[in-house]
Amino acid sequence: MSTKQLDLSQLELFDHHCHGVVEQELSRQDFEELISESTYGPAKGTTRFDTHIGFAIRNYCAPILGLPRFATAEEYLEKRRELGAREVNKRLLRDSRMTTLGIETGHAPDRILGAKEMGCAAEAQVYEIVRLERVAEEVAMAHRRQALPVEILWDAITTMLEHKLRTAIGVKSIAAYRIGLDFNPEAPTDTELDHALCRWYESVSDDKHPRLVDSTIIRALIWFAIKKSLPIQFHIGYGDNDVDLHRCNPLLLTDLLRKSVQYGATIMLLHCYPFHREAGYLADVFPHVYCDVGLAINYTGARSTAIIAESIELAPFTKVLFSSDAFGLSELYCTGARLFRCGLEKVLQTYIEKHGWPIAEAQRVAEMIGYRNAMRAYHLENKEK
Ligand SMILES: [Zn+2]
Repeated sequence: MSTKQLDLSQLELFDHHCHGVVEQELSRQDFEELISESTYGPAKGTTRFDTHIGFAIRNYCAPILGLPRFATAEEYLEKRRELGAREVNKRLLRDSRMTTLGIETGHAPDRILGAKEMGCAAEAQVYEIVRLERVAEEVAMAHRRQALPVEILWDAITTMLEHKLRTAIGVKSIAAYRIGLDFNPEAPTDTELDHALCRWYESVSDDKHPRLVDSTIIRALIWFAIKKSLPIQFHIGYGDNDVDLHRCNPLLLTDLLRKSVQYGATIMLLHCYPFHREAGYLADVFPHVYCDVGLAINYTGARSTAIIAESIELAPFTKVLFSSDAFGLSELYCTGARLFRCGLEKVLQTYIEKHGWPIAEAQRVAEMIGYRNAMRAYHLENKEK
C-alpha cells in the first residue's frame, strides 16, 4: 500500500442515532419491509432487493454469513434462517465494529432489542436517546389509566423526562413527522400549554397508545430540552411515507436555531437527505448545530460517497457526525459502517491526491467525523469509553 493511501477500514465509529434489531426469525416479507422506508409493500412484481440497500446487503453481508458476494436474495434469506437471527445479528453487529451507540428507544420498542441488549450484541458502549413525544404519550396514557387530573400532567411528563435523562445522553424530536418543521419557533406560554394539554388529554384513552400531534405540546417539549441545555436530535428530510418531505427542510428551523443559540443545547440534524447541503449551511453558521447523513448512506448505497462528499462541503469538519439510523436489521449496521468508512476514505483520498492534504490531516478529519465530534456534542469527552 502506498504511504499516500488513507486507510479508514479500522476507523472508530460513534453511531449517534440508531435503534435496536429484531431477534425473531423473519419471513421474506418482514425482511423486505425492514429494507425500505415505505410502509407499503414493493410495487407488484418487484422486490425491495432491487435497490441500493438490497445490493449492499448482498455485497457486504453475504460473505459474513459464509456466502459468496452477491449471493441471490433467496440464498441470502435461506442462509439467514439456517444460522438463526441471533447468530446473524452477532456476526453483522460485530463486523460493523461500532465503538459507541446512541440508541433511540422511542420507535416500536416492543419489537426490537433494548439498549442494554444491543450493547452486548454489538460489544459496544451504549447510551440511550429518549424520544420526547413518546415519553409524553406514555405518561398521558398512564395518567388517564389512573384518572389523575390534567393539571399535574405536564409535571408528570417533565419528571419522567428528567428521570430518563439521569442515564440517557440526549433527546429526539419527531416534530417533522407530527407537525412539520414550519412550526412557530417561540416557546408556548403557560396558558397556551395548559389549554393544549386539556384538549389533548380529553382525547387520550387508557387502553390505546395516543399519538401526540399537538404543535403547542411538541413545542413545549422542544423548549424544555433547549432550556435544559440538552443534546437534541431532530428528524430532518428523508423518512417514511408518513412525512411531508417538503415540510422537513431544516431551513424551516432557522428561527428556532437563532432563538436557541444562547441556551447551551446542541442540535443534531439527522439524516437530512436531500437537504444535507442546507443542513451543512446551518451547521456552518450556528455554533450549536451538527448534522449527519445517516439513513441516506444505506439507502443510496454505491452512490453514498457523493452524499458523504456533499455533507462535508460547507459544514465545518468539527460539526459532521456519523449515524447509521439502523432499525430492525443488523444488516443495516453492517452496511452503514462499511459504506461510511469506505465512502469517507474515498472522499478524503481525493483531497490528499488532488489538493495535497497531508495524510495525517485527512486521518484527523476522519476521526473527528467518525467519533470525536459526537463525544464533544454529547458531553462525553470526560467520561470513560
Ligand atoms: Zn431513527
